[in-house]
Amino acid sequence: MVIAPSGAGKSTLVNALLAHDTGISLSVSYTTRAPRPGEVDGRAYHFVKQEDFFARRARGEFIESAEVHGHYYGTSRLWIEQQIESGHDVLLEIDWQGARQIRRQFRHAVSIFILPPSLDALEERLKKRGQDAPNVIVRRLLAAGSEMAHAAEAEYVVINDNFANALTQLQSIIATTRLRFASQCARHAHLFAELGIHAATTD
Ligand code: 5GP
Repeated sequence: MVIAPSGAGKSTLVNALLAHDTGISLSVSYTTRAPRPGEVDGRAYHFVKQEDFFARRARGEFIESAEVHGHYYGTSRLWIEQQIESGHDVLLEIDWQGARQIRRQFRHAVSIFILPPSLDALEERLKKRGQDAPNVIVRRLLAAGSEMAHAAEAEYVVINDNFANALTQLQSIIATTRLRFASQCARHAHLFAELGIHAATTD
């Protein structure tokens, strides 16, 4: 899971990560927020009406969901299950509330918090984006503070000061995660069986 306040440069980093690593599938969330200019339905998000979102949530279609900046966001349970089944590593771009729900369900889920290099840089990036009205920017700046208040819940922190360094750090975390016993055991099930290695039992 990648968590960050708006303006930390999360999407650019995640896009670069995906471009270099075809083993990672990015979840496309459902949202009740209106598309921003250039956002394509089914790519950035699945844009849905609030009634549709609530109906899906009531049917248990979301593995996690949350209200962020006055809009609803949710991750498809079916899509996640299909990706895991087909051996893909799944990446979620979600907020701290969603991250908590995922941690409760997936013991091995890893969370990475992306931080801006300074408060000034954060404000600058939010303004430069130019896609939101000024009152929305102020709201997002305030929301950024409350998002960052939950940074301590993440396992890893990447400070997006220099883009190339931040990307390398993100890739290192992914590489390390893939070497965890549980990941290796699942990925190389035949080898582990051949070598007589089994997952440790807790006593
Ligand atoms: P934005 O509207 O700027 O794309 O996203 C606003 C916030 O919603 C970001 O913090 C983003 O990580 C979060 N978000 C996006 N998709 C989901 C989701 O499926 N679940 C949760 N819990 N948060 C999401």
